[in-house]
Amino acid sequence: MSPADKPIHIVRCPTCKRSVPWIQESRYRPFCSERCQLIDLGAWADGQHAIPGDPEWADDGGDDPDSR
Ligand SMILES: [Zn+2]
Repeated sequence: MSPADKPIHIVRCPTCKRSVPWIQESRYRPFCSERCQLIDLGAWADGQHAIPGDPEWADDGGDDPDSR
């Protein structure tokens, strides 16, 4: 009996760049683990919501909490 006859496809985890065998056991492929998958999804979601350098917050004289 030969344990592995067919070649295994290897992919890189997009988060940490580790090699991940493309097999059924790799549940989170192309990620190496659930953690890396969540990190990537989190980063993606952040990019959707957060706009870096929003000018509205910088120009409001927000130094005066008692002014209302
Ligand atoms: Zn990873």
